[in-house]
Amino acid sequence: MANLHIKNAIVEEASKKIPMSKRIMGRVPHAVFAEPLGPTESMGKDTLHLLSYKGAFLKPCPGTKEYICCGYQILNVATNCPLDCSYCILQSYFLHQPYLRIHVNLEEKLAPILAFIDRDPDRIVRVGTGEFADSLALDSLTRWTDILMQPFSERKNAVLEFKTKTNQIDGLIASPYRDRIIVSWSLNSPLISATEEKGAATLKQRLEAARRCQEEGFVVSFHFDPLIPHKGWREGYLKTIDLMDRYLRPHGIIWISMGSLRFMPDLKPIIRKRHPGTAILDGEFITGLDGKTRYFKPIRIELYRFMRQNLEQWYPDLGLYLCMESDEVWRKSMGGSPRDSEGLKGFLDDRVVQIFK
Ligand code: SF4
Repeated sequence: MANLHIKNAIVEEASKKIPMSKRIMGRVPHAVFAEPLGPTESMGKDTLHLLSYKGAFLKPCPGTKEYICCGYQILNVATNCPLDCSYCILQSYFLHQPYLRIHVNLEEKLAPILAFIDRDPDRIVRVGTGEFADSLALDSLTRWTDILMQPFSERKNAVLEFKTKTNQIDGLIASPYRDRIIVSWSLNSPLISATEEKGAATLKQRLEAARRCQEEGFVVSFHFDPLIPHKGWREGYLKTIDLMDRYLRPHGIIWISMGSLRFMPDLKPIIRKRHPGTAILDGEFITGLDGKTRYFKPIRIELYRFMRQNLEQWYPDLGLYLCMESDEVWRKSMGGSPRDSEGLKGFLDDRVVQIFK
């Protein structure tokens, strides 16, 4: 349970008898039972909130029609995260829902999700748990790996991506399942990782964990998101690519996505308040077609072009793609474009077929 500092637990009445609640509470015997207090500036990152989630567990990633999206499905196992990245969009998404909220009825909700996947065996369903939480930061408590790896591993038309900034891979390694499982790390420059990703594993620790997963037979992926043009960013990102070269086998990496910092305007005052020392708000921003604040287009193109050229120099077949960018930015930075969301979805589905032969 490295790096977890759970002090309190809120367990909703209806969830007390659910087996997952009992297992989790057994793993935090020191936690003091508490009542919800409402929004807190700390976001309640030391408090577990165990509840039965009433909404849909599987939902398409909320892309926008103005940008090219990848057709990813989010498995909503939890919200909030014990790490504390300055740029984290969850700070505004869940402003009024603090605490580490764990959806303990996951096991009972899994059957309809698997039925949805099985309904059309020719359709590939790419699923991830790391959109509203870190996929592995709480795994020592929740053991999502025990619950999810077997059913996904047994299906040929689905993949499950665990996306993390930790090195908490014990649950993955202990599992006998490898097929259709993707272990994924968010990476950044050494400076951004060290100064803006509080509570995360160091870059070296992340890459050591990725190497171990490759040795153990897992398919891995990476996300350079958010790319941030800080002082010395070119040298910084080159150092990260050098580290990747030192630790990893590039052959068999299923994909590497790239995205640049973007956020709804209401996040800015929250970042200023919660992370007063941050340097991430210093750039040249515009308001994008989706209302989000993002870097001025030529800056985004330069970031992606630089990363693409250097990553492709390392290895030419890494499944590089952009997250939520326009056709124009794709063409000017990547040398070509999938044109639309269907095109990008097809590209990533083909990667699944190619890598999990
Ligand atoms: S690891 Fe992801 S979910 Fe957790 S604080 Fe950082 S950005 Fe947010």
